[in-house]
Amino acid sequence: MTTSTSTSTSTSAPTPAVRDRLATLDGTELPAYLYDLTALAEHAAAVRAALPERVELYYAAKANPEPEILAALGPYVDGYEVSSGGELAHVAKAVPGRALAFSGPGKTPAELAAALELGVERFHVESLHELRVLAALAARTTSGREAVPGVLLRFNLPLAAASLEGSSLAMGGRPTPFGLDPAEADEAVRLLTDGTCPGLRLLGVHAHLASGLDAPEQLAVAESVVTWAADLAVRHRVPLAEVNMGGGMSVDYAAPATRFDWTSYGAGLARLADAHPGLTLRIEPGRALTAYCGWYATEVLDVKRSHGEEFAVVRGGTHHMRTPATKGHDQPCTVIPVSEWPHPWSRPAAAGQRVTLTGQLCTPKDLLSRNVPAPGLRAGDRVAFGLAGAYAWNISHHDFLMHPRPGFHFVTSSDHTPD
Ligand SMILES: *Cc1c(COP(=O)(O)O)cnc(C)c1O
Repeated sequence: MTTSTSTSTSTSAPTPAVRDRLATLDGTELPAYLYDLTALAEHAAAVRAALPERVELYYAAKANPEPEILAALGPYVDGYEVSSGGELAHVAKAVPGRALAFSGPGKTPAELAAALELGVERFHVESLHELRVLAALAARTTSGREAVPGVLLRFNLPLAAASLEGSSLAMGGRPTPFGLDPAEADEAVRLLTDGTCPGLRLLGVHAHLASGLDAPEQLAVAESVVTWAADLAVRHRVPLAEVNMGGGMSVDYAAPATRFDWTSYGAGLARLADAHPGLTLRIEPGRALTAYCGWYATEVLDVKRSHGEEFAVVRGGTHHMRTPATKGHDQPCTVIPVSEWPHPWSRPAAAGQRVTLTGQLCTPKDLLSRNVPAPGLRAGDRVAFGLAGAYAWNISHHDFLMHPRPGFHFVTSSDHTPD
């Protein structure tokens, strides 16, 4: 495939290794997800380096649980956060021996029992009922274990209005099914400290209150969670060893060059850690770790005009990459012009400057990116959608309309040969 210079709506252009691999794929091998594992490792290393030593970093597997991604993150994370029995079994197999924290509302007794059998060290308990079920199961299954399983009580804590404003998905500070109500804190702590639950030990507090927060907002949330947890410990005269402040670090799809400010966040966490010696602080981001390492690449099938607007229909769509449909944004993308046109029929092309990119689904919701600057875009040209490394393939409705599944490619910088 020969390509000329490409235009990008933003700085989400594919890395050289991704470009090289994409160039080896023919149209029938598209769409495809391409992940740059070197770029992922470099980003994770930078995140880790920005955090103080006393802050542990877990990866929230639900953002992207591909085994290659989990493994590439291995050297930079202290563990993995899993939110279902399925994720638990999958992650335990993909990165054996690593620390796991089990979260999520509605854990079934079978899932809890499986986690106990696997030796999971940390349970993020979401309700008093769940605590009682876990305690009963732990009383039966801990005999062969090395350590008594630890509990972090997840609380739905009030959020300051200021920190909520920027958040796209608030999980806390308002009525939600997540975590315990703060009013239940005393009872939950009592159950774990008065001998009612001998098979469990209270490790600390967990809160994942919002997503899409930038660094100053995240820091304000972290401070309020840690302060609240410290008060709880004082009130009950129990030592709390750990506070998990959740994930939700922002990814700006409209401005991919703007990254979450890990440096200032890390500096703020260092101050917080200094103010609470003896407390282990932990975060568990998903999106902000893996979003930037993935691309969903495809080719233009058709270009048409409708009521004054130009559309390019690409091979694939939101059944593979649901992110723009769920978040209501335009997925950043790079157009890669292709000069070859091997077909005997004519090649449709855009007449204007801007084109809306849609997929193959029979629904007006199958919008990938609107008004993309792509003058002269033609059928056969390629488009690489960036920031597709998190909440993309694995949140999509793959079977709707029964189109074929995309290919998956994991590349490293050594796959790129400079020209
Ligand atoms: C989803 C989730 C995360 C990760 O959130 P991101 O927005 O991807 O960083 C962390 N913790 C819990 C409990 C979650 O549900």
